[in-house]
Amino acid sequence: MFNLDQYLQSNSSFLTIAGPCALESKEQLESILKATPDTKVIRAGIYKMRTNPDSFQGLGAAGIDIVMELKKDYDFKFVTEITDPRQIETLDPAVDMYQVGSRNMYNYDLLRELNKVGKPVLFKRAFSATVKEWINACGYMPDLGEDKIILCERGIRTFETTTRNCLDINSVIYLKQNHNFKVIVDPSHAAGIRQMVKPLSHVAMAAGADGILVECHPHPECALSDKEQQITPAELLEIKAELTKLANFYDKIVL
Ligand code: PEP
Ligand code: MN
Repeated sequence: MFNLDQYLQSNSSFLTIAGPCALESKEQLESILKATPDTKVIRAGIYKMRTNPDSFQGLGAAGIDIVMELKKDYDFKFVTEITDPRQIETLDPAVDMYQVGSRNMYNYDLLRELNKVGKPVLFKRAFSATVKEWINACGYMPDLGEDKIILCERGIRTFETTTRNCLDINSVIYLKQNHNFKVIVDPSHAAGIRQMVKPLSHVAMAAGADGILVECHPHPECALSDKEQQITPAELLEIKAELTKLANFYDKIVL
C-alpha cells in the first residue's frame, strides 16, 4: 500500500498523480483504475470551480459515495479540490489529500480550516500570483508547513494566448533551490493541449519537480470538462514509461 507520508519525506520520488478533471461516473473512474493499476494517487474533481456558472459543476456528494465504494475494491489514495470549508465534513472520509485550486489560493479562511484538519494539501498557484504571494499564503497553514504542503505549479497568465497558461518552470527550479516544499507540475492546465502533456512532464522532471498532476480520462473527447487537455490511460502509461527511463539520469524513482 502506498504511503503518502513516506513520499512527503522522500527526496528521490517522482509521483504521478492522475485522474479525470471531473468525476463523472463510477464506470469512468473504475476504467482508469483498471487500465493504470500502478497509479498510487488518483485525482478527480467532485466540486468543480468552473469559470462559467452554466458548465458542469461536478457530482458533489454523489461523487464522494463513488470514491468510497471504489476504495473498497482498489488500493489508491484520493485527492480532490475543496472549494468551501463546509465541504470538509462530507469530503474527509474519502480524501487523503485536499487540493486547493488556483482560484482559491487567496481563500485564507479555507486555508486556516485545512490547517486544522491536518491532512496534506496540494496547493495550486493562483494564475496571477507571484511566487512570494504563493509562499506567503502557505503561512496560513503553519501546522502543515513544508512537510505537508505540496506546491503545484499549474501555469500563470501572461500576454501569450497560444496555450491556456504559461508554465512557469522558473518557479519550480527556484522553489526547489530555496525551499523544502515538495513541488509538482500540472502540465494539463499549464498547456491546455493534450499533445503538450508528455514533453512538459519531461521538463518537470528536469526542473527537479517531485511529480506531476495529470488529467486522464478513458474517453477524453467525451469529457464533461477540459476535454482538450485530458490524455488517455494508454498515454499516461507511455509517459510513465518514458519518465522511468529519464529518472535514472535525475536520480529519481517514478511512483
Ligand atoms: C483542477 O486541477 O481541476 C483545476 C481546476 O485546476 P486549477 O485550479 O489549476 O485551474
Ligand atoms: Mn481540469
